[in-house]
Amino acid sequence: MEAMGEPLAAVDLPDPSPEPTEVIVAVDACGICGSDLHAAVHLPLDGTVLGHEFCGTVAATGRDATTFTPGSPVVGLSLVTCGVCEACRAGRIRKCAQASMVGFERPGAFAEFIALPESSLLALPAPLDYRHGALVEPLAVARRAVQRSAAAPGSTVVVLGAGPVGLAVTLWLAHLGAEQIVVSDPIAARREAATLAGATATVDPTQGDTAGAVAEACGGAPQHVIECVGVPGLLDEAIAVAGVDAIVSVAGVCMEPETVTPILAMVKELDLRFSFFYTRDDMVATIDEMAAGRLDPVGLVTGEVDLDGLPAKFASLLAPAAASPADAKVLVRPRQDSNLRPSA
Ligand SMILES: [Zn+2]
Ligand SMILES: [Zn+2]
Repeated sequence: MEAMGEPLAAVDLPDPSPEPTEVIVAVDACGICGSDLHAAVHLPLDGTVLGHEFCGTVAATGRDATTFTPGSPVVGLSLVTCGVCEACRAGRIRKCAQASMVGFERPGAFAEFIALPESSLLALPAPLDYRHGALVEPLAVARRAVQRSAAAPGSTVVVLGAGPVGLAVTLWLAHLGAEQIVVSDPIAARREAATLAGATATVDPTQGDTAGAVAEACGGAPQHVIECVGVPGLLDEAIAVAGVDAIVSVAGVCMEPETVTPILAMVKELDLRFSFFYTRDDMVATIDEMAAGRLDPVGLVTGEVDLDGLPAKFASLLAPAAASPADAKVLVRPRQDSNLRPSA
């Protein structure tokens, strides 16, 4: 990305060479994330290579990097951390004081190659392919969001938004065994996608009285609400639909001021929580559950582009969601000779 608010540009950069403990990964796929879209508009990331939801194949290893061999399929963590502090040793990598975000604070994976410390890579086991690999990071983010929401087997949960975050959260809620998963989204195609991901009911918030429609779908006021959109107005809506004593958790990335009416939350004594990134365990568990066949997120992938096609696709995703309602997760495929192709 050359400048804030400007379209992305495909440019030639020198191939990275590995530091002693680094690995060079040939990128097989990297998902376009809502935070890339938000950042392109709101953050001064001039000269940054975006892209943080990626998998690939090890192309080269540094002198002291011994965990992976060339040709190994790997998934990248989107945070590079020190690896030795208390937070890192506990797997709470977002809390590492030295954490740097791939694709924002260091070069990302909308590129043919990326260099990362070997400690920031996880093995992608067979039979998982590049689609699973690129979805590990957003699913880990969603797993964290579900944990923060305190939803449990048998819970009734409302999910606001059926974009990539809301759909990934819905998949995990179904995996968890939530009894009722009510998803609200203004776009019919997204509500259909939510149903396929495991929603037990959907609500169109443009039809007025969303709180009433949600309560009716839930059979009562919900105890867990997860906001998965990240635009102003949605936090207020989450407070409005939540039941007395409910937990409202925020997974949508909003970079603009938001107005809420605190008394509406006070009278219900709501707990308001936020989630950000994931723990290392969320990444590992996501890979394990996919490899075991208990979590199938491939339906989230609705499109693929190469690097040359990325700027135009990125621009279209920046338009209001109603303009491209079928898009959930779009993958960038920098190279077509991938050895992580689906087997069937
Ligand atoms: Zn992301
Ligand atoms: Zn650390």
